[in-house]
Amino acid sequence: MIVIVFVFGLIVGSFLNAVIFRLHSSESIIRGRSHCVHCKHELSPMDLIPVVSFMILSGKCRYCHKKISWQYPLVELVTGLVFVLLALSSDFRLLTSEFWYLLTVICFLIIIAVFDFKHFLILDVVIYPALILATIYNLSTGFFVEGIIGALVISGFFAAQYFVSKGRWIGFGDVKLGLLLGSIFGLKLGLVMLLLAYFMGAIVGVGLLITGRKKLSSELPFGVFLSISAILIMLYGQDLADWYYNLLGL
Ligand SMILES: [Zn+2]
Repeated sequence: MIVIVFVFGLIVGSFLNAVIFRLHSSESIIRGRSHCVHCKHELSPMDLIPVVSFMILSGKCRYCHKKISWQYPLVELVTGLVFVLLALSSDFRLLTSEFWYLLTVICFLIIIAVFDFKHFLILDVVIYPALILATIYNLSTGFFVEGIIGALVISGFFAAQYFVSKGRWIGFGDVKLGLLLGSIFGLKLGLVMLLLAYFMGAIVGVGLLITGRKKLSSELPFGVFLSISAILIMLYGQDLADWYYNLLGL
C-alpha cells in the first residue's frame, strides 16, 4: 500500500510541476502536450515517467541535451514522500474526506512554495481556490468560526507588518496566504505553524549569512517557509502543538 501511495504521489508531483510551469508561462493547465522548455520538442510518454525519466536521461533533454531543472524530480519525490507520511499519520484511513482534503491542500501548498521560491510571488489563482476549499470544508466540519478567527489574526499580523514596512518585510501575497493558513488551522495550531515558519526562516537565514550567500538586507520568500511549516503541521500538528503548549504550561 505504501508503494501505491508513493507512486501516486510521484504522478501527482509530476502534474504539479506542469501546473507550476504553466502558471508562469500562462499556458492552459489542461490543454496542450508537455514539451521541453529549451527546444520546445514535444515529450513522449517515455520522457514523462516521474523521477525515472530524469535519471535515465541523466537530467538532460533527450532531443537538445540541455539540462532539465532539478526542480522536476525533487517536487515529484517530495510529493510522493509527503503523501506517504500523510497516509502513515492517518493510519491508512485513505477513504475519509479529511485525508483527501489534506492531500489537496498539500498540493496547493507545494505549488505555492515552489512558485514563491522561483518567482517571489504568490498567485491569486492558487490562493483563492484553496481558500474556498478550506472554507467549504470548515463549514462541513463545524470549524468555521475557528477558521475565521485564525484567518483574521494571522493575516492581520502579516498585514500589519506589510503596512508598517511598506512591503519590505513581507509581501502582500503572504497576507493572503495568512488568510488561507489561518482558515486551515485556526488560531491555536496556526500560531504553532507561524512559530515553526519563523524558526525555519531564521535558521536558513543565518545559514545563508554565515556561508555568505545572502546579505542581511536581501529577502527570503517567506511563503516558502510558511508552506513547508504548514505541511509539517498537517502531518504532525497535534503532537507539535501538545509539546509546545505543554512547554508553556498551558
Ligand atoms: Zn530540449
